[in-house]
Amino acid sequence: MDLNLRPEDLAFRDEVRAFLDAELTQELRDAGRRSTSVFCDKEWNLRWHRILHRKGWVAPSWPQEYGGPGWSEMQRHIFAAECALVSAPALSPMGLRMVGPCIQRFGTPEQKVFYLPRILSGEDYWCQGYSEPGSGSDLASLQMRAENKGDHYVLNGSKIWTTHAHFANRMFCLVRTKFDGKPQAGITFLLLDMQTPGIEVKPIITMAGDHEVNQVFFDNVAVPVSGRLGDENQGWTVAKYLLEFERGGGAAPGLKVALSRIRTMAAAEALGDGRTLIDDPTFRSKLVSAEMAIEAVEMTEHRVLSALSSGKSPGAMSSLLKTQSTELMQRLDELAIEAAQHYGFVHQPEVRQPGANLEAVGPGHSLIAMARYLNNRAASIYGGSNEIQRNIMAQLVLGV
Ligand SMILES: Cc1cc2nc3c(=O)[nH]c(=O)nc-3n(C[C@H](O)[C@H](O)[C@H](O)COP(=O)(O)OP(=O)(O)OC[C@H]3O[C@@H](n4cnc5c(N)ncnc54)[C@H](O)[C@@H]3O)c2cc1C
Repeated sequence: MDLNLRPEDLAFRDEVRAFLDAELTQELRDAGRRSTSVFCDKEWNLRWHRILHRKGWVAPSWPQEYGGPGWSEMQRHIFAAECALVSAPALSPMGLRMVGPCIQRFGTPEQKVFYLPRILSGEDYWCQGYSEPGSGSDLASLQMRAENKGDHYVLNGSKIWTTHAHFANRMFCLVRTKFDGKPQAGITFLLLDMQTPGIEVKPIITMAGDHEVNQVFFDNVAVPVSGRLGDENQGWTVAKYLLEFERGGGAAPGLKVALSRIRTMAAAEALGDGRTLIDDPTFRSKLVSAEMAIEAVEMTEHRVLSALSSGKSPGAMSSLLKTQSTELMQRLDELAIEAAQHYGFVHQPEVRQPGANLEAVGPGHSLIAMARYLNNRAASIYGGSNEIQRNIMAQLVLGV
């Protein structure tokens, strides 16, 4: 594995940097920098989405025939890393990285023509309806019923933890179309319009005070059969394919940005004896140990990149990276709280808004420490909890 960028990769990196310099406004940078979640609110991520779409760069992993830029694995990696380094707003993955590739793989020609351009342009904003109140890690136990009435299905039940359902005009979801036999063999994958009568979206406010997730109720909701992706009772196959795309883009650049922010905070935090927090040996040792762990994540990401570039599958590595990067992020959040000291406890969400004309209580760098800490507690739960990832690693690596 050669870690040096080739001349053509360096040229590509410069092109990306020039584009980001020219197009990423201060407001968009603020939106990315102050975001306390995995991706920004719709307003901000869509603004950036449209700029990337104009350039033809909004869907790095899509094949060219569907509007992708035709980049290599290395180019995608460079692009994601450069975006993270300048805090470009993270885009919603639900259309571009989740349902889009599934429509390309399983969609009818009509579904491809209808949905794919609307994902690229940002006209459609998707949410993911998988989890239910009794089905999370054990997703195959899901119970939301869809009765086939010939030309349409009638849906009854509920989905929970549905990120951005209150912004979305479309949902892709898993429903139960068969109640006997193996649970996986009775699931169907549907694409639906969130404006359909009978759908109600109720907010769930997180402990960080954010409204990101929802519970969505379905009361006799009619979904045309033309909204089915793949065959009836074959939804599990589509869902498994989607998992390959659910995560993507390296975590190391974002972790490095977070670490450097903590260094800045610690260098400004007076200890009262003429020194600052960065001079404290215990704190420094925690910073250095986090830095070493980030280096390890980065090297592992390079190994995965190298495997992908030669057509191999990442296997257990993607579970390893998910657990390591989310737990490392939570470790950094704890260090940020330590560095923010008492200012971390001031709840001031309105000041975090990009362009807000309000003065923060305490130093600006403390503004997001607590909100990120609270929000990131969920990172080891969503996208397949870290306990489940450890089970996968045990099975794949140890064969237990
Ligand atoms: C912020 C956030 C956003 C989300 N967004 C979405 C979304 O947009 N769409 C969507 O469909 N879902 C979403 N989810 C749901 C998410 O996928 C589930 O929370 C996750 O799959 C865990 O399921 P659960 O909450 O039912 O917990 P459970 O599955 O009940 O797990 C509870 C605990 O038991 C552990 N556990 C469970 N089974 C095992 C096992 N076999 N071995 C060891 N430990 C186990 C888990 O790790 C966890 O610690 C979101 C969740 C969060 C927190």
